[in-house]
Amino acid sequence: NLAPSDTAPPTLTHCPYCALQCGMGLAVDGGRVEVVERADFPVNRGALCGKGRTAPALLDRAARLTEPLVRDPETGELAPASWDEALGVIAGRLQGTRDEHGADAVAVFGGGGLTNEKAYALGKFARVVLGTSQIDYNGRFCMSSAAAAGRKAFGVDRGLPFPLEDIPRTGCVILVGSNLAETMPPALRYFTELRENGGTLIVIDPRRTKTAEQADLHLAPRPGTDLALALGMLHLVVTQGRTDEAFIAERTTGWEGARPAVMAHWPELVERITGVPVPQLRRAVEMFCAPENAMVLTARGPEQQAKGTDTVGAWINLCLATGRAGRPLSGYGCLTGQGNGQGGREHGQKADQLPGYRDLADPAARAHVAEVWGVAPESLPRPGRSAYELLDALGGDIKSLILMASNPVVSAPRAAHIEERLRSLDFLAVADVVLSETAALADVVLPVTQWAEETGTLTNLEGRVLLRRRAVTAPSGVRSDLDVLSELAARLGVEKGFPTDPEEVFEELRRASAGGAADYSGITYRRLVEEDGVFWPCPENGETGTVDPMDGAVPGGGTAPKSTKAPDGAAPGPAKTPGAQHPGTPRLFLDRFATPDGRARFAAVTHRPAAEETDAEYPVVLTTGRVLAQYQSGAQTRRVPELNAAAPGPFVQLHPRLADRIGVGEGDPVAVVSRRGRAVAPARITTGIRADTVFMPFHWAGEGRANTLTNPALDPTSRMPEFKVCAVRLEPAAHR
Ligand code: SF4
Repeated sequence: NLAPSDTAPPTLTHCPYCALQCGMGLAVDGGRVEVVERADFPVNRGALCGKGRTAPALLDRAARLTEPLVRDPETGELAPASWDEALGVIAGRLQGTRDEHGADAVAVFGGGGLTNEKAYALGKFARVVLGTSQIDYNGRFCMSSAAAAGRKAFGVDRGLPFPLEDIPRTGCVILVGSNLAETMPPALRYFTELRENGGTLIVIDPRRTKTAEQADLHLAPRPGTDLALALGMLHLVVTQGRTDEAFIAERTTGWEGARPAVMAHWPELVERITGVPVPQLRRAVEMFCAPENAMVLTARGPEQQAKGTDTVGAWINLCLATGRAGRPLSGYGCLTGQGNGQGGREHGQKADQLPGYRDLADPAARAHVAEVWGVAPESLPRPGRSAYELLDALGGDIKSLILMASNPVVSAPRAAHIEERLRSLDFLAVADVVLSETAALADVVLPVTQWAEETGTLTNLEGRVLLRRRAVTAPSGVRSDLDVLSELAARLGVEKGFPTDPEEVFEELRRASAGGAADYSGITYRRLVEEDGVFWPCPENGETGTVDPMDGAVPGGGTAPKSTKAPDGAAPGPAKTPGAQHPGTPRLFLDRFATPDGRARFAAVTHRPAAEETDAEYPVVLTTGRVLAQYQSGAQTRRVPELNAAAPGPFVQLHPRLADRIGVGEGDPVAVVSRRGRAVAPARITTGIRADTVFMPFHWAGEGRANTLTNPALDPTSRMPEFKVCAVRLEPAAHR
């Protein structure tokens, strides 16, 4: 168990925000906490964005909760309370709901920022203590479509199946719907180095973002049409005879099923659907196919669609048909967004999953995890509702909710409706660091520890498991989420099985994950300290790898093993050498994919329109996203003075022609109206966006809340809402 005193100052730790999980040092000097550069950490090599550099402001006690709050039934206001009282109220109300309405009337909502230990404990708490099937988390709104497509195609989903380190050494990268120059700026250097090495970068985005400005080629399709764009590119690959027939024959299945839709999307049709001119499409194909190696990386653009899984599948098809997968320096990857978006989806807080990335409906998975938990497999609930469906059911058959580290009042689609659902609950308990817009609606609010005040593991977008160490002492009035779950479990009759020490939880997580796709059983806290991160899968029991063709030169990741048969449908494991320690697996799929037959699967997908198309009443497309100085719902970053000064509020980005048409100038308030509501924010006029599209960042509540407008139409597989496309109209407006 690592306390601050175990490491000489500055304490080596990681940023509290995004999935890059930049390494940083934290030095404490007379009560003042300062960020110290860590050039030795391979992912960011010392670089940090403004969010990371200013993160110590989150520790400012004035900006955060330091005592529990319980809503006074007489005044209706939240008032300070003791921990004993607050926990007693929660336990009593959850028990009361269960007694009156059954276990599934209590729901649990987690977050993609929770450590692996917390995500694991939360999933176990829901299923063992509450016995509810109703648990999901806000990571569903992040990369779930890429996860679903990755699992379909490769048998396992790990955001990047290769380290970031490989990007500068490939020949071409297609970056689809990612503005990483703003969302994770230190990652931009990988793409800069790619270009310095003679490689090329293609960015696909309806906006000319800071990332697109770095590209050799920028394609700006109409939002929601990138599936057609991928089909059109693959059409040209086929007609130009550039498919890799040997790879298709030896390492894939399903090409014949995928091919008809590809052949039906000839370039001129794709131009009509996407707005991307045929010559640009041809140039993209040439750039992608000319070098020996190439990659496609997706982010929220193609993923946050009601056809997100199919859209990502179409981009994976492009990689498979050209033989650019399952070998070094080539492949498909997803740039996960949330801090522990990757680990958060592996350890059981998802509606349909158990720890180790196991399928909750799989009898063998249930038996394995039930044994670790000391319960009968049949006692484990069945899969429950996905995030939006769960939130939409609040106040219906779900009467009580316990929520950790999430702020759906700002981040959920159709947010006014979700806010109203939250208000309609019989009982809402929220554990958070700050009084977020969602916490402000709660009956009980618990103040919990945050990143630098606690130790825990996270898994970054590469599948690199990291130890984020405690660097400062938490305020006396707060407790960790693990304490909260342990206390509540005891009050609800489960005295054992919920340790409060994160390393003890991790030890159990290791056993629960053993043999699963995301196998952590060979990873220990000690190794994470010594090796500065280990890539999963990393099974225990003396397995070592054969050095892969990349010489195993992955800082912090050990060598990359060649794979053999995958256990339990899991990712490939290495060749066995008894007695040795598994080094972790920086690169997946080098010899085989993690499907039962070892072959990658093409997706038979075709283009279809967005769930909500533009029409005479709503003639403009709205797309949403993030800005440099804010993070997700803004609950943290809006409380950091420097960040708030840099990005103080929402805006509506629109093209001059559109601005002229509705009669607004720079800075004028614009009302954006969809079928779900109305938001007002100042106009920001630029030629760097399509004239048929407007963009709003989603970090704010109030009249500029972008998610008031967004469409909760769900992807049938991933249950991802269509954040990236909805139909709106624009009007000049006065701020309310
Ligand atoms: Fe933190 Fe992400 Fe910025 Fe790195 S890029 S400093 S992890 S917010």
